[in-house]
Amino acid sequence: MWSSRLFWKIFAVYIGLSLALATGVLYVVNASQRYELKHQTEQRLYETAIILRSHIRDCLIGDAPAGDLSDQQAQLQSLVQRLADQTQLRITIVDSSGVVQADSERSPRLMLDHGNRPELIEAADETMGTATRLSPTLRVEMLYVALKTELDDGSHAFVRVAARMDAISERMANTRRYLLTFTLLFGLLTTVITYLLIGRIIHPLALLTRNVQAISDGKSQELARVHSSDEVGTLSAAFNQMQSELATRFGQLRERNEQLSTVLGNLLEGIIAVDANENVVMANDASRRMLSMPEAVGRPLLELTRCRPLHDAVRKCLSTGATVKTEFVSEGAVRRDLALRATRLPGYPSPGVLVVLHDISELRRLESLRHQFVANVSHELKTPLASIKAYAETLRNGAIRDEENNLIFVNRIEEQAERLHQLIVDMLHIARVEAGEEAFDITQVAVQNVVDASVRMSAQSAKQKNIRLLVEPPPERVVVVADENGLRTVLDNLLSNAVKYTPEDGKVTVRWSVEDQQCILEVQDTGIGIAPEHQKRIFERFYRVDEARSRDLGGTGLGLSIVKHLCLSFNGSVELQSVWGEGTTFRVSLPVAAD
Ligand code: ADP
Repeated sequence: MWSSRLFWKIFAVYIGLSLALATGVLYVVNASQRYELKHQTEQRLYETAIILRSHIRDCLIGDAPAGDLSDQQAQLQSLVQRLADQTQLRITIVDSSGVVQADSERSPRLMLDHGNRPELIEAADETMGTATRLSPTLRVEMLYVALKTELDDGSHAFVRVAARMDAISERMANTRRYLLTFTLLFGLLTTVITYLLIGRIIHPLALLTRNVQAISDGKSQELARVHSSDEVGTLSAAFNQMQSELATRFGQLRERNEQLSTVLGNLLEGIIAVDANENVVMANDASRRMLSMPEAVGRPLLELTRCRPLHDAVRKCLSTGATVKTEFVSEGAVRRDLALRATRLPGYPSPGVLVVLHDISELRRLESLRHQFVANVSHELKTPLASIKAYAETLRNGAIRDEENNLIFVNRIEEQAERLHQLIVDMLHIARVEAGEEAFDITQVAVQNVVDASVRMSAQSAKQKNIRLLVEPPPERVVVVADENGLRTVLDNLLSNAVKYTPEDGKVTVRWSVEDQQCILEVQDTGIGIAPEHQKRIFERFYRVDEARSRDLGGTGLGLSIVKHLCLSFNGSVELQSVWGEGTTFRVSLPVAAD
């Protein structure tokens, strides 16, 4: 409360007003008391003068003989002194020419001419005159009342009665002392009461102020309660109610904000909100990643990225209000294809623009792969079909009767049909692999069984080329986790390739072993080998080192691609080691089944 400015303001105003009131009261009381006392004294002096007038009239005879005159004066003087003793007043008798005839304080002979005294001048005109001034005779402030007295001889004289003002001043000083003491005590008492009273009003207000301050500082601790039944108490209760309401709302808002940040943070789409001055209000992680932007909030968009299409879209959207859609390539740390949509935020004037960015790089890549695939498939289908058509036409045009060649043509048609069949089988395999795990029956597969079946299948073609087909099993039985048909396809492809690309009298070896819970299955040949520049692309669809050779050998260019995707589907991998002209080893790694 001591720090409350309002408290000190009210208190200071109260003290000021009290001081002014006390001074005013003192002044008025003092003035009215002085007036009253003076009036009373004047009245007393007047009444005394009236009485005196009748007493002294006999003593004042204007044309008395000289000897009588001094007797008269002496008589007058003694009368005046006696009366003065009785009344405690100063009495002076002055004749019409201003000469003092008698005075209770001094010898008249020693006194100056009194004709110029204001009270006598006034009395000469109006019978009675009053004055308050310093007496030159007594050197004290006196109140004079003079009365004109008509004498029998037609002349006049003045009876002047005076009282000392110091008695009045003393009485007034006493009254002032009493008043001052009373005022001080009363002031002290009212100051204490006022202090407590203002305190009672200000204290709850100070508490409320502190509470408001705490809320504006974001502190949500339990707020102090004001226990009072008046308006301040009601205000405090309403305020506390509002505070708890606010705390709930703040909590909800904070929760919403957190949810929103989590949602925005985890969105794959980039979200950027900019204000009307193109300063970033919000930018999620995805947008910063896409545009290689640093922490962005509060900074101008222009400072953060040089991406021109983005700036153009934001500006166009801000100026026209229309939604802007565009696609562009971002040249950040990583090159990406991005689709952008800029929408003006609602409000007038618009508070800014919301930009949504989609990374369409993968979409574009898949699109291009699909185009490539369709082109490759059409090409692959076209060649055998064209051959079949050509042989069939040749036969129809007469070659059918050519006993020597007609069978050769029919064989060629059969070969091309077989190629088509192989192509379709491979494409079905690819479709199956792309369908994912659901198309497989993942079980425990004994490697030996699959190898034996596959070797049996390739034995014939190996034999035709006098290729030795060797199987080198490990001492223990190895079981892997895979789809049996899938694993068979892997081995069939690797073995048929090995036989295909190994010249006559060569050797193909199949071996497997277990390393770190992985079955390493190798198909090694002594064939033509693969040059290093082809090794990286060998697993791509339709990629062939020598296209003509592959076709002649009945290859589709899909075999190794199928092998790779199957291995990946079984949580395995495939790699190769090859020396051009010496031979190739394909190494498949598959997870071993737990015992
Ligand atoms: P293809 O049906 O043409 O054999 P693949 O996908 O099975 O298609 O193989 C792709 C290419 O890899 C082949 O065209 C061939 O050039 C090369 N290749 C595959 N296996 C071997 C191997 N064992 N030795 C040499 N080259 C091979």
